[in-house]
Formats: sequence, structure tokens, C-alpha cells
Amino acid sequence: MKDGQTTKKPLIYYALIAIGILMLLNAFVFPMMLSSRITEVDYGTFLTWLEEGKVLEVQKEENEILFATKVEGDDSKVAIYSVVAFEDAKLVDRLLDAGVKFGQVNTSESSPLISFLLTWVLPGVFFYLLGMLLFRQMQKMNGGRNAMSFGKSNAKVYVQAETGISFSDVAGQDEAKEALMEIVDFLHNPKKYTQIGASLPKGALLVGPPGTGKTLLAKAVAGEAKVPFFSISGSEFVEMFVGMGAAKVRDLFKQASEKAPCIVFIDEIDTIGKKRDNGGFSANDEREQTLNQLLTEMDGFDGKKGVVILAATNRPESLDKALLRPGRFDRRIPVELPDLNGRIAILQVHAKKVHLADDVDFELIGRATAGTSGADLANIINEAALRAVRLGRQSVTQEDLEESIEVVMAGYQRKNAVISPKEKKIIAYHEIGHALVAARQPGAAPVHKITIVPRTSGALGYTLQVDEQESVLMTREEAFARICTLTGGRAAEETKFGSYTSGASNDIEQATKLARAMVTRLGMSDSFDMMALETVTNQYLGGDAALSCAADTASRVDEEVLALIKRAHERAKNILSREREKLDALANYLLEKETITGEQFLDMLNAPALAPQNA
Ligand code: ADP
Ligand code: MG
Ligand code: ZN
Repeated sequence: MKDGQTTKKPLIYYALIAIGILMLLNAFVFPMMLSSRITEVDYGTFLTWLEEGKVLEVQKEENEILFATKVEGDDSKVAIYSVVAFEDAKLVDRLLDAGVKFGQVNTSESSPLISFLLTWVLPGVFFYLLGMLLFRQMQKMNGGRNAMSFGKSNAKVYVQAETGISFSDVAGQDEAKEALMEIVDFLHNPKKYTQIGASLPKGALLVGPPGTGKTLLAKAVAGEAKVPFFSISGSEFVEMFVGMGAAKVRDLFKQASEKAPCIVFIDEIDTIGKKRDNGGFSANDEREQTLNQLLTEMDGFDGKKGVVILAATNRPESLDKALLRPGRFDRRIPVELPDLNGRIAILQVHAKKVHLADDVDFELIGRATAGTSGADLANIINEAALRAVRLGRQSVTQEDLEESIEVVMAGYQRKNAVISPKEKKIIAYHEIGHALVAARQPGAAPVHKITIVPRTSGALGYTLQVDEQESVLMTREEAFARICTLTGGRAAEETKFGSYTSGASNDIEQATKLARAMVTRLGMSDSFDMMALETVTNQYLGGDAALSCAADTASRVDEEVLALIKRAHERAKNILSREREKLDALANYLLEKETITGEQFLDMLNAPALAPQNA
């Protein structure tokens, strides 16, 4: 990589700093450390001590004399003194008289070369290595990025072999694949298109909810198109230095046009492509600069050259309008949540990696997972495989898959949660309430499983309904039936115990959401006809809605929603009091079994009336 040269530069700075520190140490600290143990005395004192016999050993150096004396009270220790050398011809005689050991230090013993190496080069090398180590560490923490390499984009060049993903790894999403295949085809034989005068769209935007395979599709394009593939994530443009984002965009496009034909993929483009606001001082000047640079670059190159820019986002509504106009990201490729066939296909793609038992029925799993994304499905397969391993099996069974749906949707079983028998009973009635109301609604999805085993998500039990087939439309009656089913849990508590618990909070939330949508968006209320009262702000991320009506209309909306929910609740209560016997029988059965299947539920429901019992 080019970055190799830039990593060397800072090391010189490290070396300079290290040398500076060494010089300071050599000049002040080391001498101080040495001298601190040596006390200086005058020549007279030295001679007096020598005569008194205190001196043990004497060493003459170039211009001072070092000598050792006994320390009073402790014979094992010696104190070292120095004295400035004095012209004293009789010194040798005096020393002989006193009978001390003496000599002259051979200064040439430690050669200047070695001492130079020891004091200067060795620590230098040490600091150099230390610096290099620290620098490596810093680079690693930056995710391989280099703070010092100004303005270089981190776009990785992918070649075909590297992603190893092809269109066959992406299941479902046939429309998206088709649109992308056209782009791949253009890059392979541009003549076919230019002959007629068609030019390739410069940019295509993959939009859809998280986990539907947008990034995967882009990687598949990289695998199929045998051209260079630059991939960068929007967040990588957000740099620690101001102005770097724009520089990166420039560099990315420069590299891309050198390598044309090629594909540039910008993942999560909403991080840089957000609408520019026009309100005075912008706190996000850096991001705007980056976006402006991107807009300029996209205009700047020739579509015929064969640089295609792919981008992915799950917040298309937040993107700047200028990004979406013709000539930029004018082609929008929706990557929606998979339908039944899509889900089955995705399950099959991912199941290729695991050993399956013979009883696996992907059709049923597909039906039970309505509303999940490709990522969820991949996760379900993996959880199932993990469960099989945990249970010491060699292959994944249908049971593993069904359990893992619940794990992905509601979390793991909380085996040792402590729930009192009384609460357990309430939960059983609650769940049977849902199931029973559902069973008595025309067109409601059949109950597949009822359980009162608590889950890590906080669910204390739940009723799983699985549709026979998937429908794209929902009638007003079906929507209302759904709300009835949701109120069924609370209604059962009331019917049995005459009071109710907090256990219905999630039901309440969902019922209100649906009732609200019926009134404000689906035109399913009596008073508002086909008037839109809410707009969805981010359809792919939860779908928050913003009211767009007058304040008193809003309060009438609330009344309407309330009336709808009340009606559903009444209906649920009516159903349950009519079926009181069945409710008791089923709840007791569930209490005993903890988990029952849809068939067991139906068998009991359709069994001839039981003898009245006092539960
Ligand atoms: P996003 O749309 O959020 O970019 P990804 O492309 O990162 O989603 O998908 C995450 C994972 O989900 C993929 O790595 C893949 O395992 C799985 N996945 C999602 N959609 C599909 C699909 N259509 N076919 C196969 N696998 C899929
Ligand atoms: Mg993605
Ligand atoms: Zn409930």
C-alpha cells in the first residue's frame, strides 16, 4: 500500500524527542545521581583523616582524588569522598605510611567508543523501538487507519476473489438482483448499450430496512462484475480532522476514475448525505462539505467512462434532494423485507452450511417468520445449529428451528425465573384468552403454539399465530379482528379473576398502534374517510409517524382510536364469557403442560362440551 512511506515520517520525530530527553538526562540527572553519594571535602581534611588512619583506599583520577573511609559504628559500610587533586609530591609517601591501598584509575579502560554507544546509541535504539511499538498500537486502535496520512481515502480495492460472494448467495430480492445485473452487464460489454446511445445510470441507491441484504447485494455485485470494486462506509468519511471528509471523497473518486471501469460502493450513505439545513450556523459544517464534494464529484465524471456508484441506506427520506436528482443517485433499488418465498429461499441458502434432519419443513418456518429480515433468518438457522450442538445432535431438526424462531423473536427461555403459582395461572388465562379470541375471529391466523415459559425478552408467555398464506392486503375486518385478539389476554383476566394485571402492556401498545394506523393512515374509520392524518417519517426504521392535522382533529382522532379499541375489547370479553368453560379447561391444560401446540389447542376447543366444573 502507498501508506507505507507515510508511516516512517513520525518515527523521526520520535527519535528527535528521544535524543532531546537523553541529552537532558546526561547533562543533569545522571551526574546528580552519581554525585549525590560522594561528599566533597578539602585537602586538609583528607590529610588529617589519612594520618588518623580512617582512610581505607584511595584512587587518583584525572583531577580529583576519590577515597573511601570507614563509617563510624558500622564496619561493613564505607563512605566515599572526593577531594580536588592537589600538587603534593609527598602524597605517595604519605599513602605508604598510612598503609592504604591506592592506585590510579585507567581512564582508557572504558573506550570512548563503548561509552558513547552505551550512553547515546543504546537508549536511542530503545526509544526508537518503544516509539515504533506505541505507533503500531495506535494504528491498530485506529482500525488500521493512519491519522497522519492526510487526505488519503481508506477505500479498499476489492477484486472479484476477495468478497467471494455472488448473486447466488443472495436469495429472494429478484428485482434488486435484476437491476444490479444490468449494471454488471454494462460494465462487461458497454458497446451493447452505447451503440443505441444509452448511457448507464451513474448511481444506484439500495434502500430498505436493516438486514435485508443491501450490503450483501453490493458485495455480490463486486463478485460478479469482474472490475475493481471500491467500498467505503459513510461513517469513514467522518474524520478526526476538519476537511478530511471532503479530501477523502476527492481521493476516492480520483482513484476510481483511474481504475475505470469500476464500481464504488458507499454503505450507510445517510451518515454524510443528510439533508442540509439552512439555519444560520451549522454545527455540521464538516458533513456538509463532504456532501458538497460528493455532489461535485458525481457531476464531474463522465457516465460513459464506466464508474458506477452504488450506495445503501435505510433512511432514504433523510437524504438530501440534490443527491437523488437525475444524474446522481437517480436509480432507486428497493430491497424490502422478504415475502414467504423469499424467506424460504433465504433459509435454504443459509441451511446449505448446516446438516439438516429429514423432518425440516422450511415452508412452515417461512410462514412462522412473517416480517423478519434476511439477517434474522440467517440468525435463526445459526441458533438452531447451536441448539443442536448443545443437545449433542448431529443434525438440525424442525424442533431446533422452531425453538430458534422463538429465541430470535422473544429471547431465550428463562428456565429458573421464579413465578408464583397464582401468577402462573393468570398468565395461562391471559394466553388462552388471546388464542381463544383469535380462534373465534373469522379469517384470523390459526394458533400454532401457546406457551407460558418466560423468555429473556421479558415476555411471560405468548401465543404464536401462523398464517396459512401470506397476504399483502389487510381488510378492515381483519385489522379489527387483530385488535380483538390483542385485547383477548386482558379480557380473559377480567373474565376469570374480575380484575387485571400489568401483563397486557405490550398488547396495549400494539393494539393502539394498529388502531391508530387504521384511523390516521389506512382510512378505516367512519368519521375521517380517506383523509391522511399522519405521515410516516422513517418507514424502514420502526416507522414513526408524525401527526399532520389540527389540534382539535387530533383529539377527535384519539376519541376514534379509543372507541375502536373499546369495541374490540367488548367483543373479546363477550366471546370469552360465552366460552367460559373452554377458557377454564384450556387454561388448566396449559398450566399443566406449559406449552401446547396448535393442534392440541384445536382438539380441545372442538371437543364436545365438558361437564361444568368449578375452577
Ligand atoms: P443490510 O441490508 O442491513 O446491509 P446485510 O446485507 O448486512 O443487511 O445483511 C446481513 C446478513 O443477513 C447477511 O450477511 C446475510 O447473511 C443475511 N441476509 C440478508 N438478506 C439476505 C438475502 N436476501 N439472502 C441471503 N442472506 C441474506
Ligand atoms: Mg448494511
Ligand atoms: Zn398478551
